[in-house]
Amino acid sequence: MSQNLSTETLQRENAQLKSDIKELEQFVHTVSHDLKAPLHSMMGLIGLANHPGTPPETVKEYLFHINKSVVQLNTFVQDLINYTRNISMDISGEKIQMTQFVNDIFQNLGYLVEAENLRLEVESPNLDVMGDYVRLKMILNNLISNAIFYSSGAKDAFVKVSFENTAEGLKVKVADNGIGIDEQYHHQIFKMFYRISSDGTGSGLGLYIVKEAVDKLKGKISVESSPGKGAAFTVILPFFPPQ
Ligand code: ADP
Repeated sequence: MSQNLSTETLQRENAQLKSDIKELEQFVHTVSHDLKAPLHSMMGLIGLANHPGTPPETVKEYLFHINKSVVQLNTFVQDLINYTRNISMDISGEKIQMTQFVNDIFQNLGYLVEAENLRLEVESPNLDVMGDYVRLKMILNNLISNAIFYSSGAKDAFVKVSFENTAEGLKVKVADNGIGIDEQYHHQIFKMFYRISSDGTGSGLGLYIVKEAVDKLKGKISVESSPGKGAAFTVILPFFPPQ
């Protein structure tokens, strides 16, 4: 009887291992593809820029696109680091001064071309919270950089971050008046490698990591958005330590 049971357990574990390996292969395949795409683009552009007779204005244009690929690679590598960090790191609790915290994120994302004509605002009064600094940074960094990336480019484009303590915990909202998201995609966007359009430079990992980090902190995330009307992501994180 116990021998049967252990054979059954072995078979189940074997099947699980096989499925994990398949998933890992898929992951490595997607990751290497996403790493290679910007590298190939840069190699091509550098070759063109080096061509004798390429006018300086054209070289400048190539540099602009090379810079875009560098940003894309940088974001992707950071996503991968965050992905593994979220899995392995213990939950910690540090004092976080929210306004300063969000302003530092705004400042660090200032290098994004899309951020140039945006109004970046913190709407809430000063608030000190106890929380998991690294995961909260992962969450807000991703939501804010998306709000910047998917801005409409309009003159009055903005990204607003607000936060408050509620009965359920710390509530943080990241709102923009950018291109927005059709309701049919509201659940899909949190899936690994999911992108609504292949036009952008994103990897489709950002919101997956956000959701994983929110889950780890036993929190909740929701989105309100429609095309052309901007997007608002709300995260609620239980007070530290998570219950
Ligand atoms: P990506 O790396 O493509 O940005 P994410 O997982 O962060 O991947 O987001 C998934 C998709 O959700 C994006 O490809 C984009 O289409 C959409 N999206 C995310 N945030 C916003 C936003 N603030 N406004 C409009 N679309 C968004």
